[in-house]
Parts: sequence; structure tokens; C-alpha cells
Amino acid sequence: MFTTLTLQVRVNPYFKYSQTCRISIYAMTKLAKTLKYGAFSLGLILLIGLLIPEKIVIPVLGATKNDWNHNTFWYSPWGTSGVHKGIDIFGLKNTPVVAATSGMVIFSGVLGKGGNAIAILGPKWRIHYYAHLNQNNVAFGDFVNINTQIATLGDTGNAAGKQPHLHYSILSIIPIPWLATMESQVGP
Ligand SMILES: [Zn+2]
Repeated sequence: MFTTLTLQVRVNPYFKYSQTCRISIYAMTKLAKTLKYGAFSLGLILLIGLLIPEKIVIPVLGATKNDWNHNTFWYSPWGTSGVHKGIDIFGLKNTPVVAATSGMVIFSGVLGKGGNAIAILGPKWRIHYYAHLNQNNVAFGDFVNINTQIATLGDTGNAAGKQPHLHYSILSIIPIPWLATMESQVGP
């Protein structure tokens, strides 16, 4: 009787410890597997985005390269923005604004300086930003095809009172450090 009691006392704490230990090892292995799977999935998604071919059209219907001043890209000083992070494509008010690339609408609404604005996530993890629109024709979550109308050209936001134009810029979610520069264009 004495022997049995001793055994119980000795065995039980060990049993409890080993059970807890096994459970936490199981949980950690499961977590590691989940993390590995998550990292793999994220890598795959990133790769797919990078492999989608990027075709770009001028996002104002009928516009040509003469409808914007190339020297105004990254021009400084540019009001409260510092530098002009984009190009201004001039046109008549209500000219159709078309999607420069195919993609998913990640923003369609009103912003301070941008006025009516749209952001579309396109190939290569690049965001295409359209601002000063008169009217937005797409909503968050919409998939748009290249060259299809997404809005009309306008003069909203800080373009109010100026010649109607589309402010268009491309932002890269993935950093491209080899394009980084400390230079800024200085005006004449
Ligand atoms: Zn602009």
C-alpha cells in the first residue's frame, strides 16, 4: 500500500508535466506550419502579381503625349505637395477618364487635395491614382478592364478654379530602391 501511494505521487506530476509539454510542442509545430504556409502563400501571391503583364494606356480618352507637360513630373516646388508626384493630363471637363491598366478599385471617394479620386491596384503591385475627377463611375472592390471608363475629367479638390485636368500617378507598393534619388527638379 505504501509503495502504490509513492508511485502515484511520483508518477502523477511527471505525467501532467509531460502532457502539458506535449500539448505545447504540438501547438508550436502547428503554428510553425501555419506560419510557413502563410509565408509561402504570401510569396506566391506576390509572385503572381509581379508576373501579370503590365500594359498601360493614357487614361484620358483621346489624349496624346502632348496633353501633359513632361517637365512637371517631380517638379519642385509644387505648393503644399513639395514635389509634383504625377502628371496632369489636360482635357475638356467630362471627357471620359479610362483605366490605364486593368485592376481592382481599392479607393473611390473624396480626398482633400485630390477631390474626387480613384485608386486602382494593377499589375506589379502598382497603384494607379486618378484625381480631380468630376464624377466617379466605379466603387471599391470593382474589377476594371484597361481602357474602360472609370470616371469623367474634372476640376475637383485643389484643381478648383484651374483648367480641368486629370492628375495621374503610379505608386509602387514594392520598394524600388534602385530608382531612389535625392535630387529634385528645380524650376526655371
Ligand atoms: Zn497634378
